[in-house]
Amino acid sequence: MGSGMWLRAQSAPASAAKIASATAIPATVPWRQFEVTAALYAWDLHDEGVEQVLDNVQSMAGVNSVYIIGQMHPERRPETSTTYPHNPMRPFWMAEDARANWNFDPKRYGRIKPRPSDFAWLADTDWTRLFVDAARKRGLRVGFEFSHSLVDKQRVEGEFADLANRNIHGEITHVRNWLRPVCPNQPDVREYAVNAFTEVIEKYQVDWIESAIVLMDESVGGDPARGGGCFCAACKKAAPGFGIDLEKIQAALLKDPASQPELGQWQQFRFASVAAFYNVLQPAVHKAKPGTVLRYDIHAKNIRDFGVDIVQLKPHLDALRIQDYSEQTGQATAMSGKRTWLTEERGNVGPDFKLISGVAVRPRATPELIRQGVKIAVETKMNGIMLGFYDGADFPNLRAVRAGLVDAGLPVAPA
Ligand SMILES: [Zn+2]
Repeated sequence: MGSGMWLRAQSAPASAAKIASATAIPATVPWRQFEVTAALYAWDLHDEGVEQVLDNVQSMAGVNSVYIIGQMHPERRPETSTTYPHNPMRPFWMAEDARANWNFDPKRYGRIKPRPSDFAWLADTDWTRLFVDAARKRGLRVGFEFSHSLVDKQRVEGEFADLANRNIHGEITHVRNWLRPVCPNQPDVREYAVNAFTEVIEKYQVDWIESAIVLMDESVGGDPARGGGCFCAACKKAAPGFGIDLEKIQAALLKDPASQPELGQWQQFRFASVAAFYNVLQPAVHKAKPGTVLRYDIHAKNIRDFGVDIVQLKPHLDALRIQDYSEQTGQATAMSGKRTWLTEERGNVGPDFKLISGVAVRPRATPELIRQGVKIAVETKMNGIMLGFYDGADFPNLRAVRAGLVDAGLPVAPA
């Protein structure tokens, strides 16, 4: 253990000896900082033990980076199989809705405050602190993710109903049963995101912070009559600033959801609203700790249906993760789709923007497909890979990641 470190720029003195002993790699080799990161949850750390989990991902998969999804959305874990393969305490876990798995200070917050776990064993221990300190001792890069729900459904339907995405009929959107996005044009929502992100950065000094937050609910197929917001009061107030009249657009789209130019204007308003939110968040992230990377998770191929235009969003981000898990289809034919998506996104953001691809390690993914996935990520000029997900992964699949890195000629620390 303790040497998942790959050669890279590193200021911590404890790492100097490791860097000095590593083989020098010319700065012109773009993969010298290739990141291999594993996503973990507070309950994994509780059940398996922080050191055991880190030992496993370092020794088996050769990670040089780890992150905690410190605010999750409701989901049965493991997501793609019935039971955990290596959790000694429970067969599965129902992740709670947008509960803070970090130690927050309520005084820091305005109207929206983080909501602690309902379980004492999660709420009373600062799992993010234990995780970050253990990972730092090993010289690992460390991150934190806010997943899809920024605020839990119960509060969004209750005390924060005025902050919710509203569909074309003025109702709270309900594309998915568990998700009630809050609107990026609501000042209280922006304030909460800034407070939560900067608290995590200042307290834990993470290297990056990831947003997988859904701000504009999905409009299925880009159709305003099928789901997505937002036509809330804050959006109507903000609309003139984006050069549109949202009341007028809403009236036209109620008559005909395909009406032009209103449909195009509404879609562009969604892209611009999400970009404006990150235009507020990014400077706050950088101010909290200079050099902190703000990473956005492209959580779906149809990300435009969620109000996200990657090219418009890019100036307000420092990195992107492409949530491709083709390996878990178990189908070799799916891997060409991975190559296509990764190639497209590299084309969208240009050669110098930091892009990380998912590689699925959970059941139905095979060691052979995982090795292929790593190879495709390297060949499509990704800057790293993210393993989805440790909690459901059989150990042979984790070991295939290390094998894939070696196949690709990347420097990997000995197991
Ligand atoms: Zn709105």
